[in-house]
Amino acid sequence: MTKKALIIGAGIIGTSTALELARRGWLVTVIEQHSGAAQGSTARTSSVIRCHYTRSEAIVLAHEGATLWDNWQAYLGRSSTRAAYHKTGVLFLMRQGEGGPPSESLGVKAEMDQHDLDNRMNMMQQAGVEAAFMNQKTLADFLPCFDFPEDDVVGIWEPNSGFVFPPVDSVLDLQQAAELAGVQFKFDTKVVNGASAWKGERRWIQSVTVHNDDGAQELQADVVVNCAGPASHHINLAMHCPLGIATAPQRQFICEATWVNPTSDVPAMADLAEGFYIRPHEEVFKVGAALAADHVNFSTDEAGLITEREKEKFEKRVLASLRKRAPDIEIADVQTKVAFYDWSVSDSYPILDGTDVGGYYVAIGSSGAWFKSGPVIGQVMAEMIHREGHGDTNRDFVLPFTKNTLNFGDFSVRKRLA
Ligand SMILES: Cc1cc2nc3c(=O)[nH]c(=O)nc-3n(C[C@H](O)[C@H](O)[C@H](O)COP(=O)(O)OP(=O)(O)OC[C@H]3O[C@@H](n4cnc5c(N)ncnc54)[C@H](O)[C@@H]3O)c2cc1C
Repeated sequence: MTKKALIIGAGIIGTSTALELARRGWLVTVIEQHSGAAQGSTARTSSVIRCHYTRSEAIVLAHEGATLWDNWQAYLGRSSTRAAYHKTGVLFLMRQGEGGPPSESLGVKAEMDQHDLDNRMNMMQQAGVEAAFMNQKTLADFLPCFDFPEDDVVGIWEPNSGFVFPPVDSVLDLQQAAELAGVQFKFDTKVVNGASAWKGERRWIQSVTVHNDDGAQELQADVVVNCAGPASHHINLAMHCPLGIATAPQRQFICEATWVNPTSDVPAMADLAEGFYIRPHEEVFKVGAALAADHVNFSTDEAGLITEREKEKFEKRVLASLRKRAPDIEIADVQTKVAFYDWSVSDSYPILDGTDVGGYYVAIGSSGAWFKSGPVIGQVMAEMIHREGHGDTNRDFVLPFTKNTLNFGDFSVRKRLA
């Protein structure tokens, strides 16, 4: 009998998971509280695709993401798509020193010693990521549009990385492919509760209750997947299934601007030394913050606490950092916006896992960094769910583009708590 799945949330991760489950023969419904897809965290993403991480499994996940975006039309089986991958290259700048604490905001360190740098380059090489190490001189020769006054500045350059534009349209591409594969999207519909029942020694998910203009409705399913982004913790509570690792919404500021003097040689970059990152697109040039120090306020109800003064302070600081590093870049019409990450409180890696409740899965805690692998996470989740639903205990998954292997336990709660 065809198995039924309910996906909570139509961001990049929910829409991707829905498409991939439908490709595996499941009957899938996506429940989304907003009137369309990609209106949560995904609406504000900078969509920078890079592979530099502190953990090898994260590099593997990111590399598959970059390769998939580079083959976006082939992945969707289409000859034209709304969104495209811009392979500008991505530069990560750090300081070479004794090695400070890891910046968990981006899964990388703002200061690295030689051992860390060698280790990082090795892990990237092993995963098949093309990357080059640069010192102050090679950086200055390679990117004359930037200033590199510090003699301890070092860079890791990824020539095949870049960004997706427009990111929201990439989710609409996924939605269209999902609908063609039979997925039903229920918009303006909010999940408010879940029900489970004991079967033998384990509780199993049975249904979720949703609210929309027609009132309350109970939807039955074999599987429910929490892809609710910054609301993930609330959904876990609504499903009566708190996890061993907490997630929380985390407030972020992001500047959006138009790029007045675009030149072709500006890559996407994350400058950990100066504390900012850029996505260089003419229509929506983005400048965000890139230091762990910005990521401190874990709260579920911060929205009312955002003041104009805070926005102005952020804008002033982040734009001053940009001007210092890249004095030739001219931007205008800067607007500072607010968005929320779904943060894995103990680190910055996603939680892709089953739970104590049979049939209830989570693809959450993407911590401001996993748009890049949204469609890969969709495949990992769908494959995990499909195999478990058919009694297949093999937990290794060969990623289709890079042929690297991920284990379903790599982003599990258990591994993190071990
Ligand atoms: C400012 C910013 C910059 C970023 N930059 C990058 C970057 O450069 N590179 C990168 O890889 N990643 C980046 N990210 C992270 C990336 O955007 C996120 O990891 C990704 O978009 C998360 O997608 P998601 O589908 O999990 O969540 P979301 O897009 O938030 O989707 C969750 C959906 O669930 C819905 N939902 C929640 N509760 C309910 C409910 N009860 N009932 C029904 N629906 C519900 C929400 O409405 C929402 O649409 C950035 C994020 C932000 C905010």
